[in-house]
Amino acid sequence: MLTRFAPAPTGWLHLGHVLNAEYVWESAATVLLRIEDHDRGRCRPEYETGILDDLDWLGYRPGIYPTAAFRAGRCEGRQSDRGSVYQDAVRELAARGLVYACDCTRREIEERSQHGDGTELWYSGRCRDRNLPLVDGIGWRARMDPGVERFVDELLGPQEQDPSRQCGDVLIRDRLGNWTYQFAVSVDDYRQGIDLVIRGVDLLPSTGRQIRLARLLGREHPAAFRHHALIMKTADQKLSKSDGDTGIRELRARGWTPDQVKQAARERGGIA
Ligand code: GLU
Repeated sequence: MLTRFAPAPTGWLHLGHVLNAEYVWESAATVLLRIEDHDRGRCRPEYETGILDDLDWLGYRPGIYPTAAFRAGRCEGRQSDRGSVYQDAVRELAARGLVYACDCTRREIEERSQHGDGTELWYSGRCRDRNLPLVDGIGWRARMDPGVERFVDELLGPQEQDPSRQCGDVLIRDRLGNWTYQFAVSVDDYRQGIDLVIRGVDLLPSTGRQIRLARLLGREHPAAFRHHALIMKTADQKLSKSDGDTGIRELRARGWTPDQVKQAARERGGIA
């Protein structure tokens, strides 16, 4: 089996990542390291280097795309080096009429959003039939026709999600030319042969649309999914990258050992 560890270099590694890494590396699967730097406005090269340094220090060794492969330059594990893979995927979807351009502003989307299931921002499909050209400077969306995606989460049990009611047609590239998380991760998990996805429960609502996108791209058998509990800062607030007290580089500077960091992550994540 092949799983992945997929941090976004929008901040330093923190205890929440270590908890996820513990779940990932204790699974029996081979681990692929993916740097999810699809959002060029928020990612910084120094964060990528910091993440690689912390992973080396913690002793997590990816079987595919080891940290040295990223340090050496271009790497297929880095999303910003995979633009042509995403372009090809869009071409395939567009050839089947599944992609369209959308020039709605966030305010316009918010105004029409009340018809979704209320769990998140919902896109009404206003631009579906406007035939705007698929060019730079405008958003691109993939059609999510009505239909329920069912899967059995290995930790949480049976799940049902209908992306057409949760979020509507999924944005796959924004008007600045950034590939979105939903699209890049769906293409990568499929094309890189990931068959086990292990991640925090905060991403559970995204899973149905990722299964759908992968199927539209031709994936016959979805990956298996394990969504685990998160380390919380307070009862209803999850840890964020700006919570310096749990940053791995700070703990390291204070003299913690890798084992102490991993143990702290496991205890706070309830798997001690
Ligand atoms: N890149 C995402 C993050 O840092 C993880 C995405 C995923 O596991 O699907 O939260």
